[in-house]
Amino acid sequence: MRATYIYGAGDVRVIDVADPTISQPTDALVRVVSACICGSDLHPYHDLPATPEGTPIGHEFVGLVEDTGADVSMVRKGDLVIAPFAWSDGTCDFCREGLHTSCRHGGFWARDGIWRRPGRGSPGAAG
Ligand SMILES: [Zn+2]
Repeated sequence: MRATYIYGAGDVRVIDVADPTISQPTDALVRVVSACICGSDLHPYHDLPATPEGTPIGHEFVGLVEDTGADVSMVRKGDLVIAPFAWSDGTCDFCREGLHTSCRHGGFWARDGIWRRPGRGSPGAAG
């Protein structure tokens, strides 16, 4: 698949990476069909030191669910989903109160091992 990486200030590239797979029963694979540039993306674009290996950049997208792990119950294959800058599990006390960005089990896209370049960890997406 194609992914957007940043290698330093002003150096953003679209590169080929391994296709993600379901690695956890709570994962969902989502094919991004539209995305945006968030204001928080502009900070590394302006001042990220040179990073020879690059790091994923980008979040906030609309996509189609292509596959889900066994424990995913809120979305299924073919669903159109909207993802904010953070992911959450929808089960913890914060999620039940509508405070998804404070999810006890959540994280942020392109961080926390949610999507990693081959050789750095398990690819995949949380669901
Ligand atoms: Zn939660």
